[in-house]
Amino acid sequence: MDNCIFCKIIKGEIPCSKVYEDDKVLAFNDINPEAPVHFLVITKKHLESIIDFQNEDYLLINHIIKVINKLAKDMGIDEKGFRIVNNIGKDGGQTVPHVHFHVLGGRHLQWPPG
Ligand code: AMP
Ligand code: ZN
Repeated sequence: MDNCIFCKIIKGEIPCSKVYEDDKVLAFNDINPEAPVHFLVITKKHLESIIDFQNEDYLLINHIIKVINKLAKDMGIDEKGFRIVNNIGKDGGQTVPHVHFHVLGGRHLQWPPG
């Protein structure tokens, strides 16, 4: 999508602090980190949220979890734990309408969220 900030990051038109990339996803550090480790895993396909998933799109979730498993181990947050967050729509607090999963770790995280 032309006007989508995350599509621009995928195309290299906006820089990012990349932590992982393959043919299906890109992972990069959040520009406004809420924890010592805070990166985003985004789909290369532009979909606003999981609500727009159809058919084979669901397979992306499987892949994203696999990538997060690897990155959590690489970043050393696997043993102490971390959180995966996927905000959806207005009430979910989604600000960028392109599917992304937050991975937060490196400190104790509060629950429930505000
Ligand atoms: P959400 O509020 O769940 O839609 O999350 C969007 C996230 O994208 C926020 O945590 C932002 O800090 C992050 N973000 C927005 N623009 C950029 C950017 N150019 N590079 C890295 N992270 C970004
Ligand atoms: Zn997009």
